[in-house]
Amino acid sequence: MATEQQQLLLRSLPQVEEVMKDPRMEALTSRVPRENLVEIVRSVVDDARSGILAGTLTRFHPEDAVNQAVTRGLELTETSLRPVVNASGVIIHTNLGRSVLAKSAADAVDAVCRSYSTLEYDRKTLGRGSRHDHCEQLICSLTGAEAALAVNNNAAAVMMVLAEFASGHEAVVSRGELVEIGGSFRIPDIMAQSHADMVEVGATNKTHPDDYRRAITDDTAMLLKVHTSNFRMIGFTESVSIKELRHLADQENARRGKDAPQVLVYEDQGSGSLVHLDCFGTYAEPTVQQSLAAGVDLVSFSGDKLLGGPQAGIIVGRKSLINRLKHHPLARALRLDKMTLAALEATLRLYLDTDKALREIPTLAMLTTPASDLQPRAEALKACAEAALDPSWATLDIVEETSRAGGGALPMCDIETRCLQVRLNRGDTLACDRHLVAGRDIPVISRLKNDALLFDVRTLLGKNDYLQIAEGLRSYFLSLES
Ligand SMILES: *Cc1c(COP(=O)(O)O)cnc(C)c1O
Repeated sequence: MATEQQQLLLRSLPQVEEVMKDPRMEALTSRVPRENLVEIVRSVVDDARSGILAGTLTRFHPEDAVNQAVTRGLELTETSLRPVVNASGVIIHTNLGRSVLAKSAADAVDAVCRSYSTLEYDRKTLGRGSRHDHCEQLICSLTGAEAALAVNNNAAAVMMVLAEFASGHEAVVSRGELVEIGGSFRIPDIMAQSHADMVEVGATNKTHPDDYRRAITDDTAMLLKVHTSNFRMIGFTESVSIKELRHLADQENARRGKDAPQVLVYEDQGSGSLVHLDCFGTYAEPTVQQSLAAGVDLVSFSGDKLLGGPQAGIIVGRKSLINRLKHHPLARALRLDKMTLAALEATLRLYLDTDKALREIPTLAMLTTPASDLQPRAEALKACAEAALDPSWATLDIVEETSRAGGGALPMCDIETRCLQVRLNRGDTLACDRHLVAGRDIPVISRLKNDALLFDVRTLLGKNDYLQIAEGLRSYFLSLES
């Protein structure tokens, strides 16, 4: 039973037609079809009714319905997915779209989406081709793999490999590698989805070759190694290398004989890199080439993490195995579209010249720029901000800070950087941060530290970003005056 107060509130709910007659709603009809607006008003009123009945809404004015409907109507006309200025210093920032494409990759997308293309057309035979052909040779040349397949993302790649080779069989994995990645990717869940029987071995901190050896049965289909992404254990730890897993699989396969199903060694390399980033010393991530040389049958990695390309998952390894994957029904469901293929191909082509890749692929360039090169950029950003702000509004300084690789890569590396630190003399730091994100056409994502805003120049893309930051700050301070 509704209380008396609830009944009063319910009676005050406006009719849909009343809300529609409000001048602001009338004005909106020039930009949003009337039917859609009516739907919005209806759902605003419905939500209010539910809130009143649930007791969560204890106050409601008909004007509230108009305000909410106008806001929701306007949202329909606004671009939701939009560029941002990443001043966070996290290079492969999953929430901000991970890697910025190289210019040649963006141009390739532009060209291929504005016209028909050779997506599945073979120029040599004048007949049907395969979309898998555009990148495969390139990936093989770059990694030394026999064959390659690119799919929607690395999570899809892992899923496909498990579904094809371990479904209904056992896959052995170390307890030290059962980590959760990015909130929703957990190896045990992917195993369950692909109907593989997960056999966990070892302890959280230590797994030995003997742990795998003891776990191998006639039903073992795979020894799986998972990159632990942004999780690191330090101190008393041990894990089993690809080389050792190869040795264990070879021993078991020899015992079974070559006509029996074989045990595969598969590595989910996560970030996966095609170049060894020497500047990170012993922390440098292992490369795809290294894993192949150590004897994995298959390795998969992301296209948009350290590779610096579009979202994709790349699987490389033995030809007979890749062929089976190409014929799996999931290959069709998880295939890449032409825009991604164009970006991936162009990105990979840059790797034919390592120096070019390091220079032109933004993710690699950002990762490897020395802090000394960032100092002049920080000074340019500071000059830009000084030109836009009254000196009394804030105190600006260039400070030494650390950037992060992100994307589960190089988690132990504090990458020295330079930031513009903005300490407000008026207004409020949190409110300013909110203004920079929510109050601007191009949101600026910064870091907050000790009640100051930090703008890390390592992840900025040049002069336009500096101007956006300066303009964003200026408009915040001007908003305080009105
Ligand atoms: C990031 C990551 C994944 C998921 O890759 P996506 O390309 O984001 O799907 C899987 N495994 C590991 C180890 C990762 O780091």
